[in-house]
Amino acid sequence: MPKPVIFTIDDDASVLNSVERDLRAHYGRDYRILPIDSGKAALDYLKKMQQRNETVALFLVDQRMPEMSGVEFLEEGIKAYPQAKRVLLTAYADTQAAIDSINEVGLDYYLMKPWHPPEERLYPVLDELLEDWRVHVRLPYEGIRVAGTLWSLSSHQVKDFLTRHQIPYQWLDIEKDPDARQLVEAINSEVTKLPVVFFPGGDTLLQPDLIELAEKVGLQTRAALPFYDIVVVGSGPAGLAAAVYAGSEGYRCLVIERAAPGGQAGSSPKIENYLGFPTGISGDDLTRRAVSQAKRFGVEILSAQEAKQVFVKDAYRMIQLSDETEISCHALLIATGASFHTLRMPGAVELTGAGIYYGAAYTEAMNYKDKDVFVVGGANSAAQGAIYLSQFARKVRVLIRGPQPTASKYLIDALEQNQKIELLRNTDLIEVKGKNTLEQIIVKNTASAEMQTFDASAMFVFIGVRPQSQLVADLVKCDEKGYILTGAELIVDKRSSPVDRKPPQGWTLERDPFLLETSVPGIFAAGDVRFGTSHRVASAVGEGAIAFALMKEYLKAL
Ligand SMILES: Cc1cc2nc3c(=O)[nH]c(=O)nc-3n(C[C@H](O)[C@H](O)[C@H](O)COP(=O)(O)OP(=O)(O)OC[C@H]3O[C@@H](n4cnc5c(N)ncnc54)[C@H](O)[C@@H]3O)c2cc1C
Repeated sequence: MPKPVIFTIDDDASVLNSVERDLRAHYGRDYRILPIDSGKAALDYLKKMQQRNETVALFLVDQRMPEMSGVEFLEEGIKAYPQAKRVLLTAYADTQAAIDSINEVGLDYYLMKPWHPPEERLYPVLDELLEDWRVHVRLPYEGIRVAGTLWSLSSHQVKDFLTRHQIPYQWLDIEKDPDARQLVEAINSEVTKLPVVFFPGGDTLLQPDLIELAEKVGLQTRAALPFYDIVVVGSGPAGLAAAVYAGSEGYRCLVIERAAPGGQAGSSPKIENYLGFPTGISGDDLTRRAVSQAKRFGVEILSAQEAKQVFVKDAYRMIQLSDETEISCHALLIATGASFHTLRMPGAVELTGAGIYYGAAYTEAMNYKDKDVFVVGGANSAAQGAIYLSQFARKVRVLIRGPQPTASKYLIDALEQNQKIELLRNTDLIEVKGKNTLEQIIVKNTASAEMQTFDASAMFVFIGVRPQSQLVADLVKCDEKGYILTGAELIVDKRSSPVDRKPPQGWTLERDPFLLETSVPGIFAAGDVRFGTSHRVASAVGEGAIAFALMKEYLKAL
């Protein structure tokens, strides 16, 4: 935390020097003494201080200055720092102005020049004021501040990225907080680019993309080496499990993650069915533990880097990243998981991040305190989402297509027992409405054909997941939905007698593909992206661990 500032303003250089000297001698250890020779220059400086989130403890201002009097300065200065103590330095002739300003600007004291000896006439007064300031001041937030609006998608993305990386920040809504708007306008007068991210020390980023933000907050975005024994794409439970085992056995291992570690599991408020955590564990916590475990074993994890494409070059498996760099490895694990379907109806794209959120956008939950929100979907993730949101919202209505949620029994029980949650069964979402932000939704009961319109502040969508296999879609065999086929699923005529069994087309090795190996030797798949998986944290972790064991076998044979 930088030292709080004592501002002293005087146009007379000799007086300014002498005040500065006396202040520095007594307060220099605990405060930054800032002498400035005009009110206007001081106001400009205050703006910069606000961006850097510095605090002013005291203004000690000469009344008689040509451009702007001391009182005129204080009128403006205290708008930026209302908690700062105010002392006017006056000549005898200015006494009346000083008395008048006691009410005008809440003057705390007026000090007659000359103030010597300071031990008698200056320090006792200021000591008392500063003591009072210290007791009552609410010190500003020291960390990263994100200023934006609730309806801006990029504000949501930045908040989500920081949250998923467990980087603390303060959210400033410029529509509710005039000081925050002023702060944004000082560097972005049209307020066209949101959010603005303020860093301690004064740096700012305007509507940053994730890689820019990742670099600024010190996350690794570039690989240290051109080649690794094992590369894992995706840092959900499957990818992190494989990485922990690879690292622990001394393999050079790189994990590439396009967003933040944890994957879908990282967004779960409470995973209650993962072995060994009888009271549940949050996705955040599980991710934090897994990431530190992998890093401890020397694994590199890149954030905000998407693996765009995979190709084969001799014995190497090559990965092209979103920044066009290429990384090679001997064994590659695709652990890219699955993501939720997006709504296709008109208006849904425009309202994404402005009331419509995909998956568990828990960064936004607090913003809907005492409001009515909707959850779309009836599986485990939707049920968890509804339960979590019910801690904040006034009412959570869950739109379920079928007659019953498909979530696990313990979650259905929790939904049904929750007074704030209403299950709308046999219900289809028909339309979303809203200008800048979601305002209404229209739903249809598929049994009765009845249509209903609801006012809606926010809607959290958890409908059907699709595998994230695009990066290998042209390279390895997938089913018609895009799930990657592995092991026995690749064997042609697999139900016929062993002599008729054939490996997949293009397969060049004597042996069949390993259990979690794809149709390209050396490329493996695990977790939600793989055909036949069970879409659970434990299965993803288990598959990640098995995939590593199989990659090890593969590497041995090279
Ligand atoms: C809200 C929610 C709650 C859940 N709760 C539970 C629960 O309580 N219990 C349970 O057992 N299961 C739960 N699940 C399911 C469970 O989280 C998933 O089955 C599990 O996370 C799958 O792990 P994964 O590693 O295969 O993939 P994911 O978790 O989907 O991770 C894949 C990762 O790969 C990254 N990625 C994708 N494509 C690329 C690319 N091209 N380049 C770089 N990175 C890429 C993604 O950003 C993501 O981080 C829940 C899911 C959700 C969404």
